[in-house]
Amino acid sequence: MNEIISTSIKAEVTIREVWGAKKRIGSLIKKTPAVESFILSERAGRPVYLKLETVHDTGAFKVRGAANKILSLSEEEKKRGVTTYSTGNHGMAVAYVAKKLGIEATVCISNRVPKAKVDSLKRLGAVIEFCGESQDEAGERCFTLEKEQGLTVIEPFDDPHIIAGQGTIGLELLEDIPCLTDVIVPLSGGGLLSGIGMAVKSNDPGIRVTGVSMAESAVMYESLRAGKPVKLPEKDTLADSLLGGIGLNNRHTFEMVKRYMDQVLLISEDEIAYSMAYMMDHHRMVMEGAAGTAIAALLGKKIEHQEGAIAVIITGNNVDLSVVQRILQAYSPS
Ligand SMILES: *Cc1c(COP(=O)(O)O)cnc(C)c1O
Repeated sequence: MNEIISTSIKAEVTIREVWGAKKRIGSLIKKTPAVESFILSERAGRPVYLKLETVHDTGAFKVRGAANKILSLSEEEKKRGVTTYSTGNHGMAVAYVAKKLGIEATVCISNRVPKAKVDSLKRLGAVIEFCGESQDEAGERCFTLEKEQGLTVIEPFDDPHIIAGQGTIGLELLEDIPCLTDVIVPLSGGGLLSGIGMAVKSNDPGIRVTGVSMAESAVMYESLRAGKPVKLPEKDTLADSLLGGIGLNNRHTFEMVKRYMDQVLLISEDEIAYSMAYMMDHHRMVMEGAAGTAIAALLGKKIEHQEGAIAVIITGNNVDLSVVQRILQAYSPS
């Protein structure tokens, strides 16, 4: 990624921005249900609520941040269009929101991105720019478009509007879940955890916020340990939506995660696979590996018991059917 911002701008995101986001995105993004899971509540000995971010049209929560960011652009900026280099849930969210608003979205992707992903972005009406062989080259192209054609780059997590958008989940948890004392949040770049953590703790600082990541290539985890953002090689994982760096010039989420996260748990591939299969078996619910990490924290009894309800953020369901098939084949109910 191009390091265009070398000075650190530390604008604090506050609960006011989250309320602002809630108002701004309301016409585009529907509130999602928080449903109590009988079987998980039995196991945990306290109420467990599943926050179903899977019900968004794109199958993941990222439309919240994308909508808040794009809706806050000036008319002039909207006319020039937006761009991103994410081919995952964030790329889909940007394409979806832009289409809904009649704004042109250009997604820069390397020639190595699988055709299925390219096709689903095209279906959402995105303009696809093929560039180079790596994610880095795609990122560079994005910033060139910004410089030369005035498109706005929509960052996946390290942006106050994105963080505030994801934070609207926190407001909904407070509204819908009585006696909330624990929130379990899948963690990658930390936009989601920053927003939710800040929102719930501004209401009740005693709510415990747990981040969960896959065991390998957990960049935020390793960065917190090192005391500064670090880079790691990417390993294959079922939680592919949690891959990616946090940016060596991280401006917001590193500090916010440090401040609002009480503990972080690492989850093995076997635990993720078992959790995904368990949820299909007991709930007939499909989720992607990123969300499976949060269920694994519960099933593995990694959350220390306390009174009150637990909210588990089911962040997305974009998983290949071939992966679902493989996981179910390896599953033995216990
Ligand atoms: C992006 C994403 C996450 C992590 O969000 P961050 O803001 O990057 O921490 C978790 N789950 C899914 C499904 C995602 O797409």
